Amino acid sequence: MTDTIRLADANFERLRARLVSQLRRQIGGGHISEQVLAAMRNVPRHLFVRESDISNAYEDYPLSIGHGQTISAPHMVGIMCSLLGIEKGMKILEIGGGSGYHAAVLAELTGPGGTVYSIERITELAEFARQNLTDAGYKNVVVTAGDGTLGLSEHAPYDCITVACAAPAVPQPLVDQLKRGGRMTIPIGKYTQELYLVHKNDVISKEKSGGVVFVPLIGEYGF
Ligand code: SAH
Repeated sequence: MTDTIRLADANFERLRARLVSQLRRQIGGGHISEQVLAAMRNVPRHLFVRESDISNAYEDYPLSIGHGQTISAPHMVGIMCSLLGIEKGMKILEIGGGSGYHAAVLAELTGPGGTVYSIERITELAEFARQNLTDAGYKNVVVTAGDGTLGLSEHAPYDCITVACAAPAVPQPLVDQLKRGGRMTIPIGKYTQELYLVHKNDVISKEKSGGVVFVPLIGEYGF
């Protein structure tokens, strides 16, 4: 490793630590768990943004990843992951892979014994996510290009499902593919959106978790 690369790595490491303490201070308080902060502390977000945005990789806001889409702000990823209460070894489905960053945080949380399946509608972004995840060394994430509103029935049921784009309503295939006792986070709404935590037990219950802004979920059960 050259001295320049070592210096750059040390710098990213420092910026990542700063971002995590900023999230703990500003959001903290039960909204982002310590377990999730520790996972975020490990994910090299600078490998999931476009080269022109590397210097902004550890700022807490969304960034363009092309094709009219964004990598979500770190606090949003932290809040959504915390709501799911992920345990080691879980099988997780993500809809809206984008850059692959959110999938990497999920992969840290479930660990090498679990698997993250991520679906991305835009083929070029699915390839971008795959490449980023490979560069960052994640082996337990499988990225598929396609319409995530249909879920991914071949690997169902899932312990957790997370939707990273705003839906008109909870897509029925996702409810069907969630385990009993499983949890799903999903933003719902067009102009004003709410993040919901969905529990699947004898009945399906939905709990509001705050106002959010996401790109639309486009597909058969989307917009
Ligand atoms: N989780 C991402 C953020 C992605 S933004 C990250 O960490 O970077 C939301 C993504 O959802 C966009 O890339 C968009 O193309 C994708 N999307 C929209 N509708 C979709 C659908 N029906 N299936 C899969 N992906 C979809």
